[in-house]
Amino acid sequence: MGHRYTALYGPSGIDVRETVRAIDKHRGLVKGIKAHGEVGGYSRWGVETLRLGTEASRQAGVPVYVHLGRLWSDAAGASIDPDTVVPEVVPLLAPGDILAHPFTKNPGAFVSREGRVHPLIFEAVKTGVHIDIGRGGHMSYRAARAVLDAGIMPFTVGGDVHGYTIGPLEDRAWDGGYFDETPSAAAPPAAIGGAKVYSLTQVLNELLALGIQLEDVVRMVTCNAAAMLGMTGEIGTLAPGAVADVTVLATDHGRFTLSDSLGEEITSSMRLRPEITVRAGKVSRPDSPLLGRSLSALFCHGADGRGDAARNIPRPARRTRGVSLEPDLAVQGRAPEPPVTRRSRPSRRS
Ligand SMILES: [Zn+2]
Repeated sequence: MGHRYTALYGPSGIDVRETVRAIDKHRGLVKGIKAHGEVGGYSRWGVETLRLGTEASRQAGVPVYVHLGRLWSDAAGASIDPDTVVPEVVPLLAPGDILAHPFTKNPGAFVSREGRVHPLIFEAVKTGVHIDIGRGGHMSYRAARAVLDAGIMPFTVGGDVHGYTIGPLEDRAWDGGYFDETPSAAAPPAAIGGAKVYSLTQVLNELLALGIQLEDVVRMVTCNAAAMLGMTGEIGTLAPGAVADVTVLATDHGRFTLSDSLGEEITSSMRLRPEITVRAGKVSRPDSPLLGRSLSALFCHGADGRGDAARNIPRPARRTRGVSLEPDLAVQGRAPEPPVTRRSRPSRRS
């Protein structure tokens, strides 16, 4: 696993010219460059890897996607204040670039050690930098509340599903908290993503439980994602001439418990559940074992005690109270009711 070997992420492994050449050759496949604005790397190389990443990004005309939040311990002998990394990162960004992991549990990202959103994050958003959730092992409901309460709204919902975010690492390397720390024999092996398995749909459920409106959540995984990829009108929209990519989500009602990467739990009164997927016109039923584990991990306490059987309830008249759900997204489910806490879409700070 590459994450074990910090040196692989250093500037010596980056060739800007060859990177641009590879992007040019595979325009249909490569839509951006991911680079780290990460504390452990910063202690070794400053922001040189990110600088090279942005250089390649500008030459190739694709955005740079920046990971925030510590992955590695500081270099031997170094001691970095994690909150000093963001001020070094933001000036390198341009409109359309992406900041990732706003809700991370790790230091050195949006939320400072004092629990406040870094002022430069507001500046970045104002200049047109986008935010991707990049859920992975980076979901702290506490951090998410701080970010959302500050009026910062993510643009897209990267699932960031890796083997090590959904299952325990065999050699327990994550137990110390970062990739390169000594495993703790006392602690049980843990998945980086948290105690329970998740899927992209479950991340949407987390956002609903955090109070983000359904229409905003749907936008984040459709038209906003298309815009980020430079594919507006081609995908992420239900329109004549667009690629026939459709996900039909049912809505279940009851009491659902979700858990973040640290094990904190929140509850929601509604759950989205995938029913049918159409990819480029080809219909398939979601049957991933991962999805099954994910939804059963999202424990359902149906109001009538029937649990998942609640999905078969008849569909009542649709509600129009401020929540617009595309008809194709509402099949086989009841029209949505508001999540436990509701949050009107915060306006960006000016
Ligand atoms: Zn990342």
